[in-house]
Amino acid sequence: MAYPEPLPLGSAIFPASVLAGSVALVTGGGTGLGKAMATELARSGAAIAVASRKPEHLAAGVAAIEALGARAIAVAVDVRDPDAISAAFDEVEARLGPVDILLNNAAGNFPQPAEDMSPRGWRAVTDIVLDGTFFCSTEFARRRIALGGGGCILNIAATYSWTGGPGTAHSAAAKAGVVNMTQSLAVEWAPHGIRVNGIAPGLFPHDDMPAHMRPVPETADDRDRTVPAGRVGRLQELGWAAAFMCSPFASYISGHTLVVDGANWLRRGLRMPEFVSVRDQFGLGATADD
Ligand code: NAP
Repeated sequence: MAYPEPLPLGSAIFPASVLAGSVALVTGGGTGLGKAMATELARSGAAIAVASRKPEHLAAGVAAIEALGARAIAVAVDVRDPDAISAAFDEVEARLGPVDILLNNAAGNFPQPAEDMSPRGWRAVTDIVLDGTFFCSTEFARRRIALGGGGCILNIAATYSWTGGPGTAHSAAAKAGVVNMTQSLAVEWAPHGIRVNGIAPGLFPHDDMPAHMRPVPETADDRDRTVPAGRVGRLQELGWAAAFMCSPFASYISGHTLVVDGANWLRRGLRMPEFVSVRDQFGLGATADD
């Protein structure tokens, strides 16, 4: 038996009064999981700043929030650039007021065997995931501290933060750094009333996924059978978790990364299946030269 289906998309975890008056900056909030989490924060009453690079993503994120009757603005930013981050916070402050919720969701990823990864490819992922999360978090904290404190950060990790994973040396290392940083910053900024948490999503397919990131197998039924819960995650299940972690109902939770994955990352077989190397999984030759 699979996990039962959740309440339908559009069911609010909280009334809009819970985050009313809050301003949430969501990096990568115009696509996929960022958009899904931004939407649930908006349903709980937050005004949303959708922050990323591409105008079409920014427009899609703002449209999704405005369709709920909530307030959203688009802010162009590359999270690898600290000056651009500072300018983005200035713009949000001028248009919506000070940011009190920061959702560090922006990421890049391309699975590849580590020996084929160029320094540029490594940095393309770690600069966005690890450095970008740090730069946005410190900009947020400096401003919150100057205002007298308070607020929360939610970092988006992945379950291979703890296990590593073949083909994802760059992303897994960066996400592990994000989980570790979540713990460091939670302690450092607790005296300022700033909570710092994370969420590690499991398999949450969505329409914005680029072809190279789509889960295998491709069909929904086959994909569901790869998860102990008997089905992949639904976007609202991640959105509710994000809204909870950013809400006053999580007021004593900090330094925690919440896994939302239907128990997928904990499974082990009594009998292990035959090992398949990462090169074979990618259908590549035995070495980079083959
Ligand atoms: P996605 O659709 O590819 O979204 C990535 C977002 O990050 C895009 O909106 C992109 O917007 C933004 N972004 C990328 N580089 C940026 C940069 N330099 N500066 C600012 N924004 C940037 O990915 P997703 O599947 O929704 O994943 C969202 C988060 O969940 C990521 O942190 C991912 O690692 C994590 N996650 C996802 C899954 C899953 O099943 N989908 C599982 C585990 C973890 P622009 O292109 O407009 O900049």
